[in-house]
Amino acid sequence: MAKTSSSGSNMRHDPEDESIGTCLVEWFCRNQRPLPWRRHYDPYAVWISETMLQQTQMTKVVPYFERWMDRLPNVRAVAEASLDELLQLWEGLGYYSRVRHLKKAADIILARYGGQIPSDEKALRRLPGIGDYTAAAIASLAFGRDVPVLDGNAQRVTARLLDWEKPVEDSHTKKAFQQALRRWMPPGRAREFNQAVMELGSMVCAPRRPACDACPVFSWCRAYAAGTVPHRPVKTRRLAAEQVTVAVAVLHDNGNVFIQKRPPGGLMAGLWEFPGGKVEEGESPEEAVKRELCEELGVTVKLLGKIAEIRHAVTRFRIRLHAFRCVLDPSGQIPTLRSAVEALWVPPAFLDRFAFPSANRRLIRILQEHSGLDL
Ligand code: SF4
Repeated sequence: MAKTSSSGSNMRHDPEDESIGTCLVEWFCRNQRPLPWRRHYDPYAVWISETMLQQTQMTKVVPYFERWMDRLPNVRAVAEASLDELLQLWEGLGYYSRVRHLKKAADIILARYGGQIPSDEKALRRLPGIGDYTAAAIASLAFGRDVPVLDGNAQRVTARLLDWEKPVEDSHTKKAFQQALRRWMPPGRAREFNQAVMELGSMVCAPRRPACDACPVFSWCRAYAAGTVPHRPVKTRRLAAEQVTVAVAVLHDNGNVFIQKRPPGGLMAGLWEFPGGKVEEGESPEEAVKRELCEELGVTVKLLGKIAEIRHAVTRFRIRLHAFRCVLDPSGQIPTLRSAVEALWVPPAFLDRFAFPSANRRLIRILQEHSGLDL
């Protein structure tokens, strides 16, 4: 049975029909969620929000964004903050290279542009951490430039509207999608149009079970007409998840606990952590933690018991982290750093002052909840 469009007509439209853009903009103006970065579209706020939203859910980002803006209201504040402070504000959002890039970009914006974020896409793309997507988002949302934004949501919506049969990762697919979005975008309405497409992908055109019945543009949608919605977008096969087992030591001495800082570059660079590492094949977590502390710090330890086992996912890795309470054995040994760049013995109450990866932070919460830090 033919559906009735939002305008009351039974007529089907073709995605080539540019009125789809106006329909999307009108829908967005009526249905947009009141998000903090949508209050003023200040370029700095757009830059921070778009950086936080990369790989991260909207609902998770909101409190992080508000805390960041309270503490660091402008580019200068980011340039003048320490990396440790920025990492602490970011802790739990993951993909920590984004923070280091923000810091480097803030230094450049201050030095080269007097603290004003450039409006030009090319200039934006030259800044650390700003790729095609973020540059287009800042140029259109903050400065009203007519450039399309192609994030995962926009990609899915476009693939369905066009009933695109090729994998979305194909090189010419991106170009074709950008051309389509440019065609649909009403001139001068890039801010609303780009957000409309992304918002539609987030709220209506979901990856599974899209709400086509509530979709303002179903009458333009080729996949809807063809019954291929569940098969769009076509994706190339993903790499399988990899299981990793890790063992760490909560090393006590004189009422303090040992923490170390990860080197710059690489995974979770600059974050603090409990020492330890990957459990090798044929090794128990207890053996691994002893070996790792010997290799990493040149110390031998005695295990006083297991504290917790934490399951955690980072990108495609499924991590199982075993944590042990340990002491130096014999006591009095001085740890020598072989991979970490800095180390501290700190009172347990001070652990909240440092930025840790999520699994380590969960371990600290477990220790705190069970008074496990009363040494
Ligand atoms: S009709 Fe369905 S598949 Fe097509 S854009 Fe709307 S929600 Fe997505």
